[in-house]
Amino acid sequence: MVDLIVSEQNPCSGRALLQPILQQILPRIRREQFETWFRSLAVERADDREVEFSVTSQFVRDWLHKNFLTPLQDAVQSASGGRRRVLLSLREEDGHDNLPLVNLPPAIDAPEPRPDAGKSDARPAGDGATGQLGRRLQLSQLNPNYTFDKFVVGPCNRLAHASALAISENPGSAYNPLFVHGNVGLGKTHLLQAICQTVMRRDQKARVLYLSCEDFTNSYIQAIQSGSLDEFRNSHRTVDVLVIDDVQFLANKEKTQDEFFHTFNTLYDAQKQIVMSSDRPPVEIPTVQERLVSRFKWGLVAEMETPCFDTRVAIVKRKAKGRGVDLDDEVASLTAERVTNNIRELEGAVIKIVGIAAITGRPIDRKLAEEALRGVTLARQSQVSVDDVMSLITSEFAISARDLTGKSRTQAVSLPRQIAMFLVREQTELSLEDIGRFFGNRDHTTVLYAVTKIRERSQKDRMFKELLDGLNNRLLTRTR
Ligand code: ADP
Ligand code: MG
Repeated sequence: MVDLIVSEQNPCSGRALLQPILQQILPRIRREQFETWFRSLAVERADDREVEFSVTSQFVRDWLHKNFLTPLQDAVQSASGGRRRVLLSLREEDGHDNLPLVNLPPAIDAPEPRPDAGKSDARPAGDGATGQLGRRLQLSQLNPNYTFDKFVVGPCNRLAHASALAISENPGSAYNPLFVHGNVGLGKTHLLQAICQTVMRRDQKARVLYLSCEDFTNSYIQAIQSGSLDEFRNSHRTVDVLVIDDVQFLANKEKTQDEFFHTFNTLYDAQKQIVMSSDRPPVEIPTVQERLVSRFKWGLVAEMETPCFDTRVAIVKRKAKGRGVDLDDEVASLTAERVTNNIRELEGAVIKIVGIAAITGRPIDRKLAEEALRGVTLARQSQVSVDDVMSLITSEFAISARDLTGKSRTQAVSLPRQIAMFLVREQTELSLEDIGRFFGNRDHTTVLYAVTKIRERSQKDRMFKELLDGLNNRLLTRTR
């Protein structure tokens, strides 16, 4: 019988209880579901009447509550011998990941050091109220894994990395603006967020704003609608470091471009740091005003290229290590040979290999890696179709295709439906109208609403963003 008296002060025994519970749950659900919903699960408290679990996202909490309460109760019963009430609560984001727990090699018996060990230091110690609010807001949006020490440097990204590092040590004076560009999945967001986290860690008072281009556009529109343009300007034009991810989305947005132009000028004149990323070089961003394009080129433009073989091997090893696994050269090379042009996909392949080993208890050797990599298709070679998204969502959320395209508006159906529309929009060239047609003849405004809602949620809720990233990954690395 497992000792059930555990508390937050004793995380090891919490883990001791958690492990058998996760082992019980694993065989009953699909690995992807496990990864999505259980990776942040921790035992907060347990006694002979109840067990309180915690997760780091409201969304995950609600979803577990609705869909996995019974499996959790059953697992608690099997693991500890008695029927107990299961409670689910929320805790602060802490980078805790249980995936390695299910196949925990002895060497990492203790919890992994938090990847964001400096994170709490980075929280403002109590300077001005607005500064505090501003920064806490961003910290929750930043991925604690996107730091410089987790970024593997190779010839493909050396320039971008070096300039990002220089900027974070000396914002406003090294290279201004910094413009990094490269294909999707090559580490732009990782580098941009690493700059933010480093600046914030070095200087507690620094005001750092990290925004996707979409965030900028949306809050600008909102500011106009609510008559709070002054506030918007004040908060965007008085920062020390402004980081805008995916500026290609400024295309076709005249008014936002104007606003951005003035924001840029104000910050630039005040020698504040500006960092931007895009999926293409400045001149190739269509329908962006020439005056902006020329400013994008004022500082340093660094391209991020597809990683070479050696860098891919290093990335594979690093990603596996992050999950508590030391990959040997053979498996790492095999993975790097198969997945060649996208680091996100490379990461997806590692997750797949480590995951299969964890579930089956087999050692990670060439045979297992071959199996895991079999049929992994590259995004660029195979277009994602609406069908791919539909079959992913129906299996992931355990709903039928009829539900997905039907009329029901219950949360259990409408949220997966909105996620599906979002993914189709992200992964295909289909118009809002087309997507609406696929999803039960819905109007394009419904699709737009869904896409915006999911995007906003993913900006506010990091676990939700990880869920979306995971789904995207699975689409890109799906097996035919
Ligand atoms: P982009 O913004 O260019 O589309 P991301 O920054 O989102 O790409 O990177 C995709 C994934 O690949 C992330 O999980 C990121 O951590 C990882 N990644 C990208 N480049 C590197 C690198 N050089 N070292 C380690 N991980 C990387
Ligand atoms: Mg990105």
